[in-house]
Amino acid sequence: MGYSSWLECVRGCGRRYSIFDVVYRCEDCGGLLDVEHDVEALKDRSAAAWKQLFERRTRTTEWPYGSGVWGKKEFVCPELDNENIVSMYEGHTNCFWAERLGREIGVPNLWIKLCGNSHTGSFKDLGMTVLVSVVRQMMANGKQIRAVACASTGDTSAALAAYAAAAGIPAVVLLPKGKVSTAQLIQPIANNALVLALDTDFDGCMDIVKRITQDPTIYLANSMNALRMEGQKTVAFEIVQQFDWQVPDWIVMPVGNLGNVSALGKGFLLMKELGLIDKLPRIACAQAANANPLYRSYRTGFKEFRPVKAKKTLASAIQIGNPVSYERAVKTLAAFDGIVEQVTEDELANAAARADRTGMYSCPHTGVALGVLFKMVERGEIKHDDSVIVISTAHGLKFTDFKVGYHEGTLADVVSRHKNPPVELPADYDAVQGAIDQAIG
Ligand SMILES: *Cc1c(COP(=O)(O)O)cnc(C)c1O
Ligand SMILES: [Zn+2]
Repeated sequence: MGYSSWLECVRGCGRRYSIFDVVYRCEDCGGLLDVEHDVEALKDRSAAAWKQLFERRTRTTEWPYGSGVWGKKEFVCPELDNENIVSMYEGHTNCFWAERLGREIGVPNLWIKLCGNSHTGSFKDLGMTVLVSVVRQMMANGKQIRAVACASTGDTSAALAAYAAAAGIPAVVLLPKGKVSTAQLIQPIANNALVLALDTDFDGCMDIVKRITQDPTIYLANSMNALRMEGQKTVAFEIVQQFDWQVPDWIVMPVGNLGNVSALGKGFLLMKELGLIDKLPRIACAQAANANPLYRSYRTGFKEFRPVKAKKTLASAIQIGNPVSYERAVKTLAAFDGIVEQVTEDELANAAARADRTGMYSCPHTGVALGVLFKMVERGEIKHDDSVIVISTAHGLKFTDFKVGYHEGTLADVVSRHKNPPVELPADYDAVQGAIDQAIG
């Protein structure tokens, strides 16, 4: 098969690299790099034939095509040898009908794409399978790489550590001390990464890891690395595949470093170019008001962009003040008639809790997206007959402290309007019966 891909400068200067080169920015103009595909070559199959192929591979055991990412290998990374692929059969996460919540807010066609139902509990697995596989192929071809490294707000390091461990490649992760959840911290520890807890925030860790990875034997795994986006864009393919190749009206998602929204956009644009879909959804980017550089820029019509010092937010994975993929995201929002909205700590925590009362178990970032959804529905921006997909980016079980704090009523700047603390009683029949009668009626 003659499919190919390469790295190309996003600023349009034309500079290209091999995906197996150790390079993260254009050496001519400093722009970020994106993976580009030979789309003409991909047109050798009709849209219907691609869909058929993807359907046939879904959940197969034929290595590696049962993975949600590698089932679309030709659209993701056609040059990889299957024997170098490092996969935990990520992807194919459930997209479920949030019937009760949708009815409550007046948007009956509401769906949740639960990307947290994945190997390490967040969507980061989708990108990491691609990046670590490419590194493995580089090493197999004799490139000297001592380790893979990243700065992380928690989920990236968990995914990197797991995939690197699966491949037997050393991993180094830089985390802001005291700013990631216990569950997120313990994952790279368990997967035997070198865990460096630094007395700074995410942006501070990012500055240091960029310098560390100027050494070409330590490969940078942050999302400025375009390879991760190739895996993450498969969420777009999965969403439409799960809807019988129909495109929803809206996608609402939490954003921080802005890699994931750019990846989602890339996935939709490729499908449109190849005729798998004939329209694009609108995209709503959701930010925490405490870490809102994209929102501020949006309010200026993207004329101005100023990095901010991100304040503490319960949505710790998006506590980012200087998003690396800003340029990519602005292009995506233009192509998808996108909007950006923000929510306070109180709004995000109560939105997550309200959804939980309808059977979900929302992480705080999903709470940010849900809070934005509620606002947009109230404003009439999202209409009652619109089909809406909320991308839930991580599993709620990674954020137990957030849940406990909410229901104990101890979270800063949050009034827990839906709290449900346990009722403590003596071991006494009448007391139990009385409590049931009082609560249930
Ligand atoms: C990484 C992450 C995000 C933000 O994704 P970006 O690509 O940084 O915008 C949102 N939610 C969770 C749970 C994450 O781990
Ligand atoms: Zn360039």
